[in-house]
Amino acid sequence: MKLVNIKDFGLKGENYYWKRKELYRITELELAEIGVNSGDMYVDESIIQPLLNANSQLNKSGYYLFVADGYRSNQMYELVYKKRVKATHLNADPGAINLIDKPHSKGTVVDIALYDLETNKEIYLRDKQDDPEAYYVDFYSNKTDEKSKEFCRLQQLLKSVMYSNGFVYGVKNEYWHFDYKG
Ligand SMILES: [Zn+2]
Repeated sequence: MKLVNIKDFGLKGENYYWKRKELYRITELELAEIGVNSGDMYVDESIIQPLLNANSQLNKSGYYLFVADGYRSNQMYELVYKKRVKATHLNADPGAINLIDKPHSKGTVVDIALYDLETNKEIYLRDKQDDPEAYYVDFYSNKTDEKSKEFCRLQQLLKSVMYSNGFVYGVKNEYWHFDYKG
């Protein structure tokens, strides 16, 4: 594994837990102790070109790719889990962050969000009111209302772009989580 900063390649993203440290009640000192001193996003260098290709494809549809999470160290997994157990408002089930497999520790796993090229705003691929069922692919597939059809279209677009660049869904089938298989 060779970790590189995605911004050096013109890709957008932000360390998920740095961005949400208040929500998770994680201090900057605790993050510094595990080597995280900014919101910079790191991934293994082997997935930079596939991510750049995916981003170019998404640009044609008016979106850009945002890496909502990439490399997550084992220490980060442990810290987040500890915080989840303490914070009563968060789901402390080890499965919620997949503490068993720690997929993001490989550096070749990414969580992807879509942003609008013109407005720079995030495009939502689900309605948070539908959580947690809406985390998983196919939740909107059989629904016929316009909003569900649009979520479905966006998730399908993301899937086809990512799959065509060597990524596949993870074991939990979350629509934003992709594992690079090459
Ligand atoms: Zn993920």
